[in-house]
Amino acid sequence: MNTSRLLELYEGPQERCGFILKTGEIVEVVNICPTPTNGFDMRGEDLIRYTPIASASWHTHPGEDSNLSAGDFQSFLNWPELDHYIVGNDGVTRFRVEDGDVYVAS
Ligand SMILES: [Zn+2]
Repeated sequence: MNTSRLLELYEGPQERCGFILKTGEIVEVVNICPTPTNGFDMRGEDLIRYTPIASASWHTHPGEDSNLSAGDFQSFLNWPELDHYIVGNDGVTRFRVEDGDVYVAS
């Protein structure tokens, strides 16, 4: 995964989110979180459309680092088959879900 393409999406005051498809294509979906400057939620229709054909999710942390939040931890656990990228002001971090816990992927 070429993370420089994710860094290009690191702009704007609100968290941005989407998927990395198995083809390598990066798609962005609407962030419907009521507090989009500090969280993200995806529409059910986007989850249904993209999770079967995605290898990873991604979202941004405007003005913050790429450590996962408590909310990220819970949502990542719901999608253990995907990797999860967070784009922060320190760069891109990839997370994996394994045995009901979330780890930084090397
Ligand atoms: Zn987050």
